[in-house]
Amino acid sequence: SLSCAVRIVDLYHERTEMSQWITVLGATGSIGSSTLDVVRRHPARYRVYALTGFSRVAELVSAAIEFSPRFIVVPTQSAAETARQLLTQAQQDCQVLVGEEALARVASDDDVDMVMASIVGAAGLVPTLAAANSGKRVLLANKEALVMAGPLFMQAIRDNGAELLPIDSEHNAIFQSMPADYSGDFAQHGIEKILLTASGGPFRNKSKSDLADVTPAQAVAHPNWSMGAKISVDSATLMNKGLELIEACFLFNCHADQVQVVVHPQSVIHSMVQYNDGSVIAELGQPDMRTPIAYGMAWPERIDAGVKHLDLFDIARLDFVQPDHETFPCLNLAKAAFERGGIFPAVLNAVNEIAVEAFLGEQISFLAIPDLIENVMQACPEQQMTCLDDVLAADRWAREQATTYLPQYLLDR
Ligand code: NAD
Ligand code: MG
Repeated sequence: SLSCAVRIVDLYHERTEMSQWITVLGATGSIGSSTLDVVRRHPARYRVYALTGFSRVAELVSAAIEFSPRFIVVPTQSAAETARQLLTQAQQDCQVLVGEEALARVASDDDVDMVMASIVGAAGLVPTLAAANSGKRVLLANKEALVMAGPLFMQAIRDNGAELLPIDSEHNAIFQSMPADYSGDFAQHGIEKILLTASGGPFRNKSKSDLADVTPAQAVAHPNWSMGAKISVDSATLMNKGLELIEACFLFNCHADQVQVVVHPQSVIHSMVQYNDGSVIAELGQPDMRTPIAYGMAWPERIDAGVKHLDLFDIARLDFVQPDHETFPCLNLAKAAFERGGIFPAVLNAVNEIAVEAFLGEQISFLAIPDLIENVMQACPEQQMTCLDDVLAADRWAREQATTYLPQYLLDR
């Protein structure tokens, strides 16, 4: 019938003219798979340009079979061979690229509209920066990239007309609670402070002595959120909140003292902005990353994210307490790193990555994580950060230092 034909033309039009091309960096991870779930719900609106993965090649290929990207990116030639075999078996036409240059390429190709930056850690910096430098909408989950290179990253966004949409749930909530025309100046908009909420992690209410022999399995068992191993450990040490404090300062152009960390165990309020007239604006929701992901992808519109509605009667109460800085020194270590500026945030991040990896490998104890970071921070000379090479050099230096300090923390086996 005619109406049917019109509908088909509409769909065709939507798919070819209106579809936006997305690259998902770190597609096999927790954020990556939540992103693909949002894409799955809006096939006319989003098309996948490229998917990248690191270790789980079979999962990456399954996603490629479902979403038909033009490219997938894997880290090694042998992973590429495996991927090509699996793709051929499935008769899936998709080009397989290899290595870090390919990550930057699929983040910056002309046809790409938006890039989900969801590689974990420093490995995500270069491709995320490539997306910023090529004027993309950058969906920023990879907070480590911003922590390492904040001023350079923000400059790259401004200089290239890119759009930066924070995906970290707290920063997404702050973004939603800020004035739509926020200029980067708290005073101009009557903003007093950001209230950054923290769940407190799996070890909230524990003392230092309780934490002496906690295991990686206990540390990654987060009470509210299901996430990758590294960020789960960061949530347990409160380094995640420290990294988020730095992230907030760079994103919203403020001082560390203008960000107050509020422990809120229910994780219903995802963060707030306090104004000088006494108003506090908050975003509330389920602990489900598909909400901030969908918000970032569709902004300024809103789309269904597949997230169940919040039932306030079910929640019934919300609690707020001060963070315990004594038991969880990482928060103050991060604040100090931001305040010292230059390469310090990059150094903090790199040592933390080494420490978390050693803890996950059962080489060092949970309490050794902040000790190791503090030692390397103390040994770190002041240095400005003016270009990407400065950041990468600081990252390398900090990893070397961390590795030389590590033996004194090794657990007896
Ligand atoms: P994850 O471990 O589940 O996934 C990480 C992804 O990065 C995987 O696809 C992996 O293959 C890829 N990867 C790992 N090392 C790589 C390397 N050296 N080179 C290229 N790719 C590599 O992690 P996640 O929980 O999805 O977190 C991803 C990022 O998002 C982190 O920066 C994290 O801090 C941030 N984040 C996550 C959540 C969450 O709920 N999971 C919330 C807020 C922010
Ligand atoms: Mg967060």
